[in-house]
Amino acid sequence: MVDVNAPASADIVIVGGAVMGSSVAYHLASNPNFKGRVVVIEKDPTYTKCASALSAASIRQQFSTEVNIKISLYGISFLRNISEHLSIDGEAPSIDLHEGGYLYLETTPGAPVLTNTHQLQTALGADIVLYDQSALKQKFPWLYADDVVAASWGRTGEGWFDGWGLMQAFRKKARHLGVTFIDGEVVQIERSGARIEAVILKDGSRIACGAVLNAAGASGGRALAALAGLDIPVHAKKRCVFSFHCKGDVTDAPLLIDPTGTWCRPEGKRTAEGQQFICGGSPGEEDPDSQEFEVDWSLFEDIYWPSLAARIPAFEQIKPGRAWAGHYDMCALDHNAIIGRAMGYDNFYLANGFSGHGLQQSPAIGRGLAELLIHGAYQTLDLSALGHARVVENKPLHEANVI
Ligand SMILES: Cc1cc2nc3c(=O)[nH]c(=O)nc-3n(C[C@H](O)[C@H](O)[C@H](O)COP(=O)(O)OP(=O)(O)OC[C@H]3O[C@@H](n4cnc5c(N)ncnc54)[C@H](O)[C@@H]3O)c2cc1C
Repeated sequence: MVDVNAPASADIVIVGGAVMGSSVAYHLASNPNFKGRVVVIEKDPTYTKCASALSAASIRQQFSTEVNIKISLYGISFLRNISEHLSIDGEAPSIDLHEGGYLYLETTPGAPVLTNTHQLQTALGADIVLYDQSALKQKFPWLYADDVVAASWGRTGEGWFDGWGLMQAFRKKARHLGVTFIDGEVVQIERSGARIEAVILKDGSRIACGAVLNAAGASGGRALAALAGLDIPVHAKKRCVFSFHCKGDVTDAPLLIDPTGTWCRPEGKRTAEGQQFICGGSPGEEDPDSQEFEVDWSLFEDIYWPSLAARIPAFEQIKPGRAWAGHYDMCALDHNAIIGRAMGYDNFYLANGFSGHGLQQSPAIGRGLAELLIHGAYQTLDLSALGHARVVENKPLHEANVI
C-alpha cells in the first residue's frame, strides 16, 4: 500500500538515514541559506544492521593523505564541541568521547611510511608523537616492543566514542530542524538523461526530487547507483569485532595497530576487576564480497588473539566475550570515499565507499555535501580530491594507512 504520509516532492532526497545521511540532512537544515525541503528515506528504521551501528567508532588523524587528515581534524573538533552543534532545547547529546590515541608500530628498519606520514600529519596540525623503541617501552611498559623500531601515537585528537550516539544525535537534530524521515526502501529511480526526476519506494510511493543523495552504505549504495544507471566500485566486505576482558595491568591502552594488521582498544572504563577490550583485523588475501552477518570465531582464536597476546603478554589470560559482524563499504579503487556529484549527472550525488572510516568522517562530509548541494561548490574544506572524477578517470588517491 502506498504511504499516504510520504511527500509528493522534495528539494533534496537522501537515501539512507544512518550517520552519513543524517549528517548531511542536519547540515542542510542548519544552514541559514537553505530553505528547501529535505526528505530522508531509510529502509530499516531499527538501524541494527547498518555499519554506523556496528562500527568500532574510533577516530584517528594518522592518515597519509592531506584530505583525510583535514577531514579528521574537523571531525575531532566537531565531536569535542558536539553540544554546540547537536543540542536540542539545551540538552546535549552524550557520545563518551575518549581521546586515548592510536598507536601504530613499525617493525621494518627505516620505517619510511611512519616518518613520512608523521611529517604531513604534524604539518597539518595533528598532535602525533614519534617514539623510538626505548621511549615506547617507557610510555607503554606492558607492551612487547623488542621488534619495534618506531611507533607513532596520537597524544590528543584520536580515540573512540559512541557511534550509535553520534548517529542518533544527527538524526534527532535534523528532525528537530524540520527534516522529514520516511520508513521505506527506494527500489526504482526515474531518470531523464542526466537528470533524476523521482525515486519510487517499495510501497509504490513516488517522490519527485530536485536532487538525490546516495547515502545507502554497504547494504545499498552500489545497488542504488545501479538504479540510476551508474556503476560505482563499492563492495560490501564483512568485518568481525570481538570483545574480551583482561584482568592484567594494561593501563591507559590506546587503540593499538599491530604490524600484523590486528587492532584492539579498550571499551568502557577500567574497573578494579580489569578492562574490557574490543579487537578486529585486516583480512588476509581472501576478502570476498559479503552481505551476511555470521561471526567467524576462528579469526579470533587463530589470528587476532595470538597476535595480540604476543604483543601484550597480559592478554595471554583473557575471558572472551560477545562478537559481531558488520560491513565496510569498501571502495575497490583506493579505499577512499567517493563524494560529490556523480559525473554525467545533473543532480545525483554520492556519499559512498567510506572503506572503514566513515563514522569519523561524517561531520566533515556532511558539512561539505551540504555546501555543495546549496552553493554548488565546497565553501570550507575542499573535498574534490575525493570526487567521482578520480573513479571515472581511474586515478586512485592512494591511502597508505588502511585498517
Ligand atoms: C566492524 C566495523 C568497524 C568500523 N570501525 C570504524 C571506525 O572505527 N571508525 C570509523 O570512522 N568508521 C568505522 N567503520 C565504518 C563506518 O561505520 C561506516 O563508514 C559508516 O558508518 C557508514 O555510514 P553510512 O551512513 O554511509 O552507511 P550505513 O551506516 O551502512 O547506512 C546506510 C543506510 O542506508 C539504508 N539503505 C540502504 N539501501 C537503501 C534503500 N534502497 N532505500 C532506503 N534505505 C536504504 C540502510 O538500511 C542503512 O541504514 C566501521 C565499520 C564496520 C562495519
